Amino acid sequence: MDQHEAWGALYDDLMVDAPSASTRRCPNCGAGSSLRLICTVTGLDAGTGLAALWCAECLEGMAPNFPLIPDGAERVLRGTERVPNYRCWGWH
Ligand SMILES: [Zn+2]
Repeated sequence: MDQHEAWGALYDDLMVDAPSASTRRCPNCGAGSSLRLICTVTGLDAGTGLAALWCAECLEGMAPNFPLIPDGAERVLRGTERVPNYRCWGWH
């Protein structure tokens, strides 16, 4: 599995089980407890939001996508999000 596939698979997993982000390892650098998944929303009861997934250690991650927000995912109001300028693996 290459980097791009690994990030995609991780993202898919977290869309099913968002809280498991804290127990997963970064596909790039292998750091634990460094993955961040936040969903930027226009209202805290919104069903969809812009989801960003990245590693706080190596600043690599998955390009933001617009999914249904999974249960347990961190929601942040648009304009207050703190997402670093990480290197994105894009979607095909
Ligand atoms: Zn990393």
